[in-house]
Amino acid sequence: HSGPIETDAVIVGAGPVGLFQVFELGLLEIKAHVVDSLNYPGGQPVELYPDKPIYDIPAVPVYTGQELTDNLLKQIAPFEPTFHFGQTVTTVQKQEDGRFFVATSKGTTFLTKTVFIAAGVGAFEPRTLKVDGIEKFEGKQLFYRVRDPSMFAGKNLVIAGGGDSALDWTLNFVADGPNKAESVILIHRRDGFKAAPASVAKMRELCDQYEMQFIVGQITGFEEKDDRLTAVKVTGSDGVTRVVPLDMLLVFFGLSPKLGPIADWGLEIDRKQIVVDTEKFSTNIPGIFAVGDINTYPGKKKLILSGFHECALAAFGAVPFVFPEKKVFLQYTTTSPKLHKVLGVE
Ligand code: FAD
Repeated sequence: HSGPIETDAVIVGAGPVGLFQVFELGLLEIKAHVVDSLNYPGGQPVELYPDKPIYDIPAVPVYTGQELTDNLLKQIAPFEPTFHFGQTVTTVQKQEDGRFFVATSKGTTFLTKTVFIAAGVGAFEPRTLKVDGIEKFEGKQLFYRVRDPSMFAGKNLVIAGGGDSALDWTLNFVADGPNKAESVILIHRRDGFKAAPASVAKMRELCDQYEMQFIVGQITGFEEKDDRLTAVKVTGSDGVTRVVPLDMLLVFFGLSPKLGPIADWGLEIDRKQIVVDTEKFSTNIPGIFAVGDINTYPGKKKLILSGFHECALAAFGAVPFVFPEKKVFLQYTTTSPKLHKVLGVE
């Protein structure tokens, strides 16, 4: 694609509230693009508690985070939103023509009439290794995600972490196949794992067969030569520090949300939340709205239900920016032929 995508609305965040914002905008015939740092929709319910039941979605006695997301996707499908996953919105700038220039970490750009920030508790980003100076190897020998597994084939790998990502990639790089590593050493701070028990059992079996090694300890330092990372220092629970040589270091410490770039867009922020009015859920910048967990106003409760209500009012608030001439009245989805048309249920 050459040049920015021109659109009516960009929604920052594909959590439950960002997804429902597509629906409320769609009823008013406002087209939306949705961006999320994660590679999949669902926000906190999918990232943090996919299998836990939610009991307070109106008219749905019990829902898991994944079911909620799947049904929201079904509900918004008629409006054909375009999703841009695996990228963080980094820039939002007002242009002279009143539109906003929006850019992501992957270089996707938009010119949009409105922006809806549904960023929850912030963009989910990998937790980093807290070792002074090691960050200079990031993207060269230190990685927090695997984009291209073939980069690690035939290498001496150290993998840190105890969750599913750490174990899955460990098993992947030990297994025979095109991505098989020269050697794999897994490091975890304790001899207990959050990962699926079957993966842990498999890993232990591979250790018994000398296919890989597992070390209990924490990475506390590193060694380098000619600007190359050559080894990490691993301090065990016995207090002894061992030097572990490597070619590549993969760290999977889970994801943590970061407000990140949102703090730099000129929005009024109070304790990491965006201040909005309760009439339109507009921010201090006309044309930028904030809905869901990211916003704050007197009486705010961080509930999915509240976020859904905010989406409806914010959508009406956006109409003057998208259709300056149009008068829009509330219509019911039950009875309105016009809404049946936009929903594709005529
Ligand atoms: P989120 O779900 O946080 O989604 C925001 C999305 O925006 C994320 O995917 C993030 O990656 C993305 N994002 C942020 N910044 C950027 C950026 N700059 N660029 C691109 N993407 C970005 N609520 C209830 O109503 N009922 C419950 O029973 C309930 N149980 C809960 C249990 C737990 C354990 C937790 C942690 C929360 C629970 N909640 C519950 C709260 C509920 O999950 C939140 O209210 C809800 O997820 C808010 O939705 P959201 O769409 O506003 O934000």
